[in-house]
Amino acid sequence: MSESKHVVCPHCAGVNRVPVDRLGAGGKCGRCKQPLFEGRPLEVGGQAFQAQLTRSDLPLLVDFWAPWCGPCRMMAPAFAQAAAQLEPRVRLLKVNTEAEQSLGARFNIRSIPTMALFAGGRELDRVSGAMDARGIVAWVTQHL
Ligand SMILES: [Zn+2]
Repeated sequence: MSESKHVVCPHCAGVNRVPVDRLGAGGKCGRCKQPLFEGRPLEVGGQAFQAQLTRSDLPLLVDFWAPWCGPCRMMAPAFAQAAAQLEPRVRLLKVNTEAEQSLGARFNIRSIPTMALFAGGRELDRVSGAMDARGIVAWVTQHL
């Protein structure tokens, strides 16, 4: 029996059980039939964030950003590129701290952009300031 992981659907937050060797195979959600991975970051609010944090077996890389923040907007394409490289090993999320102020407060985000890496529901590390795609991938890889 091959090992499997719980993957939380980015569309409906349904929990899917996916064999590890099938993670990259373009699987669809058993509930809403949409793709589990699309190679791009997922913009989430509090509820979806909580589902990804507590019910998914995948590490989460979260970009805390805001629309008014120039460096955040500059980093967005790099974060999207990093998603294409890191999925399906890692789930990439974006949290708009202006719209989701309670999440920003809960994680004590003092400056943006801040990227935080979570695994098993716990924060492993965080880094502030814009990074390029290569830097993001390298930073994540060194922790996993
Ligand atoms: Zn779904």
